Amino acid sequence: MTKTVVILGGSLAGLHTAHALLKKRVRDLKIILVSKSTHFYWNLASVRAIIPGQIKDEDIFQPLQTALSRYPAESWELVIGSATAADFDSKTVEIQLSDKSTRTLPYDQLVLATGARCASSDMPWKAVGNYDEAINCLHEIAAKAVTAQHIVVAGAGSTGIEVAGELGYEYGKTKEIVLLCSGDKVLGGHNVAAAAASELGKLNVTIKYGVRVQETKTNQGKTDVVLSNGETLRTDLYLPTTGLIPNTEYIPAKYLSADPNCRSVLVDEYLRVQDTQNVWACGDVVSKPRAGFFITQKQAASVAKNVEAVLAGMQPTIAKGPPVDIFACAVGRERGVGRMNGWIKMPSVMVWAAKGRTLAVPMVKGYIDGSVA
Ligand SMILES: Cc1cc2nc3c(=O)[nH]c(=O)nc-3n(C[C@H](O)[C@H](O)[C@H](O)COP(=O)(O)OP(=O)(O)OC[C@H]3O[C@@H](n4cnc5c(N)ncnc54)[C@H](O)[C@@H]3O)c2cc1C
Repeated sequence: MTKTVVILGGSLAGLHTAHALLKKRVRDLKIILVSKSTHFYWNLASVRAIIPGQIKDEDIFQPLQTALSRYPAESWELVIGSATAADFDSKTVEIQLSDKSTRTLPYDQLVLATGARCASSDMPWKAVGNYDEAINCLHEIAAKAVTAQHIVVAGAGSTGIEVAGELGYEYGKTKEIVLLCSGDKVLGGHNVAAAAASELGKLNVTIKYGVRVQETKTNQGKTDVVLSNGETLRTDLYLPTTGLIPNTEYIPAKYLSADPNCRSVLVDEYLRVQDTQNVWACGDVVSKPRAGFFITQKQAASVAKNVEAVLAGMQPTIAKGPPVDIFACAVGRERGVGRMNGWIKMPSVMVWAAKGRTLAVPMVKGYIDGSVA
């Protein structure tokens, strides 16, 4: 009898898992991939895609249908919709489809790969809604970046550094670009913080330390950014980059972390959701040991392997992380900062070659032709 694996989320974790399972051509296995968008989105390049003319839409948005259509038609189904509820006892998930109707999907194995979203819902650093909404979001910010004379980037984590770096590289000589940092060092005091701040300085980005955004108000086409030190910055373009919220609202609370700031999914060493037999999770929805691309890749591969093993009546194996822990942050189109395994400094040119030169856009091909898995 055909077994059904439902995968929720059509991004880096979900599509990778789907490829890994479909490539095995396991008999009598059907994969249902549920995605809010018709398209896969390479969010790692979003920081440069807000600069007009730098990245083509089709380089970072690719149809999921193209990715799956290389497999026999009876082995997969793409459902465009959003998971709104999950019942791990009755083994069903509820999907709200684009016409607002609900479809109930029964499963034998379920993979949670719904990732995490930006705390500011109108920012493109992660996928915003469906394909049209995501692409419009990028285009709107790109259009505003052209006309803005003053731009504020809030949050000096890696996304904030990369956004400020891209803006500084393109507009540092002609526009005022301000990066807000809540602490006294960027990147939360990471050991490459000073190098990142120095690189931003070369691109004429001004860093304001020790300030948080208290509120923002729109004012005649501009934004007033009220800071914790009492100062108000009036800016043409405000780009918040702080905070990632796991997309777990559809999952019963007992399977989630109790941390109110990060309601991620609780998994065991096999990446199986705690206290379940047939529910798995990978990527930013887990956010352990942290939210990251290489971690997501390894987790997706492990989940696919374990789903396949369990379906074959075998034991799952313990999931392993990447062999090298790389932190790489592009700062503009020519430079970057990074470390390997926490302490081996990567020269700027190495970060540029590994990440900053292309923001890994060529990797999109692997997610579409399946070679990623
Ligand atoms: C700007 C930026 C740069 C980055 N650069 C790096 C880097 O250089 N190196 C690195 O290691 N990591 C990097 N990361 C982290 C990396 O992007 C994430 O680890 C990765 O995207 C995780 O993939 P994911 O599929 O788990 O989650 P996501 O990318 O968050 O995708 C989740 C998917 O699920 C969908 N979804 C959400 N809710 C539902 C629902 N209810 N039903 C159905 N679908 C749903 C979403 O629309 C989305 O398509 C970066 C992140 C950002 C924001």
